[in-house]
Amino acid sequence: MIKCKVIALANQKGGTAKTTTTLNLGIGLAHQGRKVLLVDADPQGDLTTALGWTDADNLPITLDTQMKKILQDEPFVYNEGILHHKEGVDIIPTNIELSGMEMSLVNAMSREQTLKLYLSDLKKDYDYILIDCMPSLGMLTINALAAADSVIVPVQAHYLPLKGMTQLMKTIGKVQRQLNPNLKIDGVLLTLADMRTKLARTTEDSLRENYGKHIRIFKTVIPVAITAAESSAAGQSIYEYDKNGTVAKAYAEFTREVIHCGEKQRNKHESSFSR
Ligand code: ADP
Ligand code: MG
Repeated sequence: MIKCKVIALANQKGGTAKTTTTLNLGIGLAHQGRKVLLVDADPQGDLTTALGWTDADNLPITLDTQMKKILQDEPFVYNEGILHHKEGVDIIPTNIELSGMEMSLVNAMSREQTLKLYLSDLKKDYDYILIDCMPSLGMLTINALAAADSVIVPVQAHYLPLKGMTQLMKTIGKVQRQLNPNLKIDGVLLTLADMRTKLARTTEDSLRENYGKHIRIFKTVIPVAITAAESSAAGQSIYEYDKNGTVAKAYAEFTREVIHCGEKQRNKHESSFSR
């Protein structure tokens, strides 16, 4: 049996395709027979909406209500309120109520570990838990990094990412030192790439050259295509909305890369223990 892997999709910059990647990697993994839970950790609730729950404000149980119960030390049912999407993934939904959580966490006893506490029982039910982070490095993102085994960083291919990346890497380093020494960086995913432009190609080359030695830059690059934006509006994955398109092919390829890098490492790890 493979142990559950928790992956945070993080970048404090907005619009880098974190949510789109969480959704399509999650459903991609489900297509490969993996049991997948998606966690919407952005108070904007974009992931919840993109999966078709457009009335999330009326949901009785969300990430916010579950985390509040942990903070208040109230009993709660760990797998209550999880929604099932018809394309084979589960989701812990979110609505705007979660925006108060940053403040609630600041004064809490388990302020960095609340999400981890919540996910600990859920891990036995899934092969992968993917956490869609908000575009900031606040308490909710720290909670995601503290709960995760690894982080994937989606980066816009046409944006020279050096400045923003340094800040994110500093935060990851701090989390590794103070909260979660086992946190790994799975890699950087280039998204929204218009490879016809020189800028996208230059950014890719410079990223692979400057960072490639230290960190994995996934081989797959996600191309820009209007169908990717339309699929979210339709509450579907890209595989359902435009299955023969370039974005669907790229996310399927990226899914294989994630499985390959993650499960190979884990199997190696386990066999070194069983010897
Ligand atoms: P984030 O979660 O990092 O803020 P999103 O996943 O919400 O980013 O993506 C930002 C915007 O770009 C959304 O409107 C989304 O629909 C759109 N988008 C994402 N991926 C693509 C793509 N490959 N091609 C075109 N538009 C995309
Ligand atoms: Mg998002």
